[in-house]
Amino acid sequence: MNKPNLTVVIPCFNEEEVLPETHNRMSRFIQDLIDKRKISPDSQMLLVDDGSSDATWQLIKAYSESSVHVGGLKLSRNRGHQVALLAGLHAAKGNVVVSIDADLQDDIGVIETMLDRYHEGFEVVYGVRDDRTSDSVFKRTTAEYYYKILSAMGVEIVFNHADYRLLSRRAMDALKSHEEVNLFLRGIVPTLGFKSCQVTYERTERFAGESKYPLRKMLALAIDGITSFSAVPLRFIAGFGVLVFLVSLLISCWAIWVRLFSDDAVPGWASSVLPMYMLGGIQLLSVGVVGEYVAKIYAETKRRPKYFIEEKT
Ligand code: UDP
Ligand code: MG
Repeated sequence: MNKPNLTVVIPCFNEEEVLPETHNRMSRFIQDLIDKRKISPDSQMLLVDDGSSDATWQLIKAYSESSVHVGGLKLSRNRGHQVALLAGLHAAKGNVVVSIDADLQDDIGVIETMLDRYHEGFEVVYGVRDDRTSDSVFKRTTAEYYYKILSAMGVEIVFNHADYRLLSRRAMDALKSHEEVNLFLRGIVPTLGFKSCQVTYERTERFAGESKYPLRKMLALAIDGITSFSAVPLRFIAGFGVLVFLVSLLISCWAIWVRLFSDDAVPGWASSVLPMYMLGGIQLLSVGVVGEYVAKIYAETKRRPKYFIEEKT
């Protein structure tokens, strides 16, 4: 059996509170896998500092100086989880890459199962949470509906899978050839193809510190997920426009009928003012949705680089 060189990519944004424990556990885990001859001795964890303002980078630097199994990458500023993750994937040297969050919410032991799957010939292995009780009720329910809406819109998505996954070198190179600026990795990976499977695990509480995904970032990611993969909202608007037009035709017929065949042709206040507000609202919303896509196109056509690397260890 050929021992693969494993790189574990870990994006870190202001994670000084969890990083010591993460580094500890991951070091022990990697050493253990090396001892078991499951991975090659030059395997590494690659800690990507996503422009933290705390001591995260100092920690990463110290770790990588003291161990050959730790590599560090510092982005020039905060670019968000997806971009930090991509930067790590681009820099990863291994022929197998696992991406995982820094906060130890995802059971790192599962990586061993992922590797076993890899040896069975799977090139993409998704980590899937089978228990989300550690997340808040709000996060759980919104996430659930979000996954449902996404798949209803035709976006291929793995239910309850975030960014904990194993990729083979081939899958990673395929991922690298995507140049889009609006990144939603968990939407792109299923479109790569290759043999894939899932492994389940229990998601626990964050080990320390606070979530680095405030509602604002979560919403931005959610909108990216829909608008980068589905044109259904645009079609929905067009369909709705047709419907409103048909209804207005019917109302016109009715108005003509009232005018010609009855005496009570007093134009009501409600029937003229209410549709005005309603249509105004619908139009604004529709223009907003179209605008969201235009903004995406705008960002994509500029082809701006997604990140800059400030330091590497
Ligand atoms: N993260 C990042 N950049 C950001 C926000 C988050 O690199 O702008 C990292 C963070 O350090 C963590 C991972 O993304 O390793 C997931 O974040 P978090 O655990 O806070 O999200 P949650 O689990 O609450 O959704
Ligand atoms: Mg987390």
